[in-house]
Amino acid sequence: MTASTPLSLAANDGRPVRDIALADAPLAIRGMTVSYGEKPAVFSVDATFEAGKMTAIIGPNGAGKSTLLKAALGVVPRLSGEVSVYGAPLATARDRIAYVPQRASVDWDFPTTVIDVVLMGLYRKTGLLSRLTGAHKAKALECLDRVGMADFADRQIGQLSGGQQQRVFLSRALAQDADLYLLDEPFAGVDAATERAIIDVLAALKADGKAVVCVHHDLATVSSYFDNVFLINVRRIAEGPVTEAFTPENLHATYGGRLATSHIDQLDLVAGA
Ligand code: ADP
Ligand code: MG
Repeated sequence: MTASTPLSLAANDGRPVRDIALADAPLAIRGMTVSYGEKPAVFSVDATFEAGKMTAIIGPNGAGKSTLLKAALGVVPRLSGEVSVYGAPLATARDRIAYVPQRASVDWDFPTTVIDVVLMGLYRKTGLLSRLTGAHKAKALECLDRVGMADFADRQIGQLSGGQQQRVFLSRALAQDADLYLLDEPFAGVDAATERAIIDVLAALKADGKAVVCVHHDLATVSSYFDNVFLINVRRIAEGPVTEAFTPENLHATYGGRLATSHIDQLDLVAGA
């Protein structure tokens, strides 16, 4: 696979010019299909995630949101499709990506301290066998401080609340000094103060020109938190600026009967076309 593959794919099959211009986007996915069994979890999905933007990935349970991120990262294999990261193949751009998995998927009984979790984020740069210096520790503490968790550095990760654990994982992602941040439901099960702290950190990354992509379950905050939205239910339903793509029609197409019309009416949506 060459770096130009995603570009030529985008250019060859009649997609909008906007797509072609974004071929060196932080994350571009073309024609991606992922299957754990016979039925695909993600089918023939195209997605483009932009720099300096926060994008929400939304869709019902089992829609393939986590799978989309994992397959984009190469954590689960793709049946087909291309992934490019800043215009380069995934393999050469991996260290530009930080990933915060869904909290439920992490073994919190693993005996490790908060600062060690953050230091793990630095291993990729330093190498596992290199000696961690005082500078590394200082960097880890600074990243913990950015999420308000510096005082918890020596605590066992398993002893923290859900919101505190989520902050530590965000802190580890910060330690990686990545350009593209992929977060899987970072606000799930966290308290309001943690949600605010996380959104502030993500907003600072965005202001710095980074790309932030969150699987997000709370439709009520999509408009206030995010610039762009990507709607998925196995297939891509729609993507674009919240002001264009977050419509009642697209939500119905994504959630079907699972979302009551009365619920949709309460959301801060753009008027239907
Ligand atoms: P979401 O994050 O949108 O809730 P997932 O990507 O986790 O959805 O899952 C998509 C589909 O793939 C679901 O039907 C789920 O049951 C299935 N799935 C996810 N992970 C696995 C796995 N490791 N093995 C088998 N099936 C899986
Ligand atoms: Mg998920």
